[in-house]
Amino acid sequence: LRRNAGETEFHQAVREVLETLGPVLVKYPEFAEYKVIQRICEPERQIIFRVPWQDDQGRVHINRAFRVEFNSALGPYKGGMRFHPSVYLGIIKFLGFEQIFKNALTGLPIGGGKGGSDFDPKGKSDSEIMRFCQSLMTELYRHIGEHTDVPAGDIGVGQREIGYLFGQYKRITNRYESGVFTGKGLNWGGSRARTEATGYGTVFFLDEMLKVRGDALDGKTCVVSGSGNVAIYATEKATSLGAKVIACSDSNGVIVDQDGIDLDLLKQIKEIERRRVSAYAQQKKGATYLEDGNIWTIPCQVALPCATQNELTGKDAQLLVQQGCIAVAEGANMPTTPEGIRVFQEAGIAYGPGKAANAGGVATSALEMQQNASRDSWTFDYTEQRLQEIMVNIHRNCYETSAEFGAEGNYVVGANIAGFLKVSQAMVALGLI
Ligand code: NDP
Repeated sequence: LRRNAGETEFHQAVREVLETLGPVLVKYPEFAEYKVIQRICEPERQIIFRVPWQDDQGRVHINRAFRVEFNSALGPYKGGMRFHPSVYLGIIKFLGFEQIFKNALTGLPIGGGKGGSDFDPKGKSDSEIMRFCQSLMTELYRHIGEHTDVPAGDIGVGQREIGYLFGQYKRITNRYESGVFTGKGLNWGGSRARTEATGYGTVFFLDEMLKVRGDALDGKTCVVSGSGNVAIYATEKATSLGAKVIACSDSNGVIVDQDGIDLDLLKQIKEIERRRVSAYAQQKKGATYLEDGNIWTIPCQVALPCATQNELTGKDAQLLVQQGCIAVAEGANMPTTPEGIRVFQEAGIAYGPGKAANAGGVATSALEMQQNASRDSWTFDYTEQRLQEIMVNIHRNCYETSAEFGAEGNYVVGANIAGFLKVSQAMVALGLI
């Protein structure tokens, strides 16, 4: 704790994993001998740098940026960049740590890393976003590469930001190295279904959890927090499988629409006009907007937290269960607090933690890297089918691992142990690195 003082979210993520690893160390004593746990908790490399940029009025601003290259035992570091004012080392380290296990679960050759900046993209002009991205890449370019470290998007970083970052990388290095970034646009090296992948993948994982219980998504009422990339495509896939999504949110408030969220309208407001979710209620008859509302007070059968870390507390979890919620699949990273997880597990409802349930995003990023390496471009249907197969495999792996270690159906145990085993075995094989 003293070694990483003040990094609260990182401590939380590490504790959650370590609490489940006891039986693994009994079965594989060599992991203790080689100090795998101590090594896995220490990033291979952390880069922290300043990003100076000028706004449209010519005023100078200084932000801080991070890239934590956590573990490369399975492949190049892989993980998104987050732009949000809350970003500091503890958040990037928690995300990077989770990413190691998530990436291992995909079965694809990718290590774990994460980056970001405390830059707030809200209310910035296009030119300001571009200048900021160019300034950030003027330092970051020397640390990344197709075989080294491959960033992508996350909160506040979508295709527009990736374009500006990738463009500056190309300019500085004089290399059209498509595989250095994922989440690119379709006509400059991106993969079909990448935009949809995290949200779709979360719903595929949810569907598998329900199948194990002899249940299905069809006819279920869902609540999805957030209204960004993950939330929109989780809503789309859940709706296409017969569920009704009745609420979504942003950091200012909640939209409730008992007719089911109108996705075309939501996409128009969020993806094209880049407005707040409150605009939905102004345009959709029957929808209501709850300013500062708590989305978890809306009764539902399925909850999909797709906004941010620690957004669903123990109290929220209790209310969800009391009001009839039977399944939770996390599109966001670590959205449920440890107390919330305990409530779901004690109630015996299906609970899919983010590092398993939202792994479809990074898995499809790895598919984008495959297409870039072979200068190929796959169809939407083929890529989505690969995504679905990967999510079904992740679910099966987590389920079987949970059963093997005496906790059948506990996906936290299953995901942590299955991910840990894969990375640790590679770390032991590669020697003391
Ligand atoms: P976006 O920036 O597209 O959307 C984020 C959404 O969450 C917005 O609606 C935002 O509202 C809301 N939000 C963010 N921070 C807060 C906060 N502090 N309180 C309340 N609401 C908040 O990001 P993504 O959809 O890409 O990411 C969402 C989550 O999914 C994150 O946890 C991310 O790490 C995770 N994830 C994303 C992947 C991807 O492929 N994009 C892959 C795997 C995980 P507002 O506009 O008001 O800030």
